[in-house]
Amino acid sequence: MRIDVVSLFPEFIDQCAAFGVTGRAGERGLLSLHGWNPRDYAEGNYRRVDDRPFGGGPGMVMLIDPLRAAIRAARAAAPMPARVIYMSPQGAPLTQAKVRELAAMDRLILLCGRYEGVDERLIRAEVDEELSIGDYVLSGGELAAAVVVDAVARLQDGALNDAESAAQDSFEADGLLDCPHYTRPVEHELGGVPEVLMSGNHAHIARWRRMQSLGRTWLRRPDLIDEAALSPADRRLLDE
Ligand code: SAM
Repeated sequence: MRIDVVSLFPEFIDQCAAFGVTGRAGERGLLSLHGWNPRDYAEGNYRRVDDRPFGGGPGMVMLIDPLRAAIRAARAAAPMPARVIYMSPQGAPLTQAKVRELAAMDRLILLCGRYEGVDERLIRAEVDEELSIGDYVLSGGELAAAVVVDAVARLQDGALNDAESAAQDSFEADGLLDCPHYTRPVEHELGGVPEVLMSGNHAHIARWRRMQSLGRTWLRRPDLIDEAALSPADRRLLDE
């Protein structure tokens, strides 16, 4: 998969993606990241990328032309069609289902705003979709783009050493939260490990994990329960 990031600070995302699973996805050739700085496409001695908003008010707005030129250069850099996504607090919330959809694509172009955001006409002309990483405001879209890059990279085939681990994560297949996890030592001053996990009885372990997932989701995110793919057996466990 190829991801192009249009940003005034493209190195920021390179740094975020250099470690762990995303770093490995790059090394394994599963993900290639390319930065495009609109300042490189700005004109004049000062290479301006922003200007005052019409109608007055605080802050600056990113200019159409440097952004459009950067997006077009990114588009032209590879033959596959790309979906252009503007990272924006006004976008649709990023969910694991959306991450799965994006991870299956050959190519994305992520547009990062700064200041008060980008000229609305650019969004209408060049952007396919707006995505938000939550109901709060960041100073720039780079962290949000890094979130997309990370979430999408770990779903590339071969990025995780054990592909099963992604399938068991929160929000995956059945839409529930993950169960709790324990590792060595068995006895610790902070407490013990649930006995069932050391019983070797896989059916009991699976049932325990399912109950934990259901219980946690019900307690922490009851909103997910309505949407989750629950079996009649799950419903009975919830009623217990
Ligand atoms: N004036 C804008 C508004 O209120 O909708 C906020 C602009 S924000 C200070 C600057 C940039 O940060 C935005 O253009 C966007 O790219 C990015 N950004 C901020 N919060 C974000 C969020 N929750 N999700 C995704 N991107 C965000």
